[in-house]
Amino acid sequence: MRVLAVASEIYPLVKTGGLADVVGALPGALAAHGVAVRSLIPGYPDVLARLDKRKVVRRFDALFGVDARLLAAKAGALDLLVLDAPALFVREGGPYGGPSGKDWSDNWQRFAALSQVGADIAGQGIAGWRPDLVHAHDWQAAMTAAYMRFGPAHRTPKVVTIHNLAFQGRFSADIFGSLELPPEAWGVDGVEYYGGIGFLKAGLVSADAITTVSPGYAQEIRSPAQGMGLDGLMNGRADRLHGILNGVDTDIWNPAIDPSIVRPFSARALGQRLASRRAVEARFGLDQDHAPLFVIVSRLTWQKGMDMMIEAVDHLVTAGAKLAVLGSGDEPLEAAFLAAADRHGGRVGVQMGYDEALSHLMQAGGDAILIPSRFEPCGLTQLYALRYGCVPVVARVGGLADTVIDANEAALGAGAATGLIFAPDDPTALYEAISRAVALHGDRATWLAMQRAGMRADFSWTHSAARYAALFRSLLPAA
Ligand code: ADP
Repeated sequence: MRVLAVASEIYPLVKTGGLADVVGALPGALAAHGVAVRSLIPGYPDVLARLDKRKVVRRFDALFGVDARLLAAKAGALDLLVLDAPALFVREGGPYGGPSGKDWSDNWQRFAALSQVGADIAGQGIAGWRPDLVHAHDWQAAMTAAYMRFGPAHRTPKVVTIHNLAFQGRFSADIFGSLELPPEAWGVDGVEYYGGIGFLKAGLVSADAITTVSPGYAQEIRSPAQGMGLDGLMNGRADRLHGILNGVDTDIWNPAIDPSIVRPFSARALGQRLASRRAVEARFGLDQDHAPLFVIVSRLTWQKGMDMMIEAVDHLVTAGAKLAVLGSGDEPLEAAFLAAADRHGGRVGVQMGYDEALSHLMQAGGDAILIPSRFEPCGLTQLYALRYGCVPVVARVGGLADTVIDANEAALGAGAATGLIFAPDDPTALYEAISRAVALHGDRATWLAMQRAGMRADFSWTHSAARYAALFRSLLPAA
């Protein structure tokens, strides 16, 4: 089966979060199920710089008014189609905004162009290749399904995956005339969304199947509290909505061979983690002692509960623990973490920015990772933590609740506990979870048992790739 994936990020070329990890890992995981994925991505500078064997396979004179070319290329094992449109994608800054962090004002045009090209490939094919199915990720690619539905590729099955419903790609109605869609695409069954235009919404009403990245989140987004305005649509299309858990790319996240950690280790040799712990302490200016070491690797945002976390830092230190924070995000939150590090020299260390290798080291050296999210579609950092013997302490939401087994008495007694779970959006519950983790850490045998149970859990892509492959097959026309 040939699948065209369309996305705005792909690990290791361009990543701002879990979306990239998933888009980068699924092609390899699906190959084992007879699914060959080509991924269409924007030609950002970081992407163009790292392509092997590029070849121009199509030229566009005026793609939304700009010159563009489509490149077929490889990057490692990834089979790529890259939309090389310098006027849209070659800029200083991130994939969605400038150096100041503000979104580009022409994002609608940038991602409508990407999506239109995706639909075009589905309709006409490219150099003798045409997909049997198109898989679009998040709002930046969701319009692919809408362009397909109103164009020649309307019969080709389309799947839209939601990695985070909070990002919807909403724009004002007056861009409709520039989207190059037929008039019938306007309306509640089309791109119209609360009087404006919703890219994700347009994709969701056009898709043959909708997936999201955990069974828990698939349920949550059907409620007004978590549906972010789309719960009605989700309920209306519930028979097409599937929750498929993200997996871990076990070639990249494997403590036995990870080049970013100090010493390799396995569940049988957890003592080897100490070397990475010492390295984390050194990198973050923390005291070298045996106090429980909590880590955070996260976007610093309200979604991730980082405002509550700041309130909890003093408590964490008073409870006798230490904290290392790697993250970037909202400026006031960054400033507050830096201030906490100043206040608690040797006990709290902070590094702002994005550092893939350091994130691996922290999973290998930390005792526990804190994830107090208000909502979490799947969450990958708790899955990486489980593999690395770093005990996840998580809010009871979405994929976090689906993947961590709380250390209650029954689970501890059965040797099944893998972490700690607490009520979301509740600072007291967060404090209590930190205290509970500190107490459990003091009981070496219990802590070790939790680490080992987490490392035994299988969150590789094996099961989830099989589910995607089965879903894709179910959408193909009968032969
Ligand atoms: P989200 O996609 O909502 O940000 P996930 O937990 O699904 O959350 O995925 C986050 C991914 O980004 C993980 O791979 C995590 O290790 C990585 N990450 C987040 N912040 C940083 C950072 N500051 N430096 C390095 N990696 C980070």
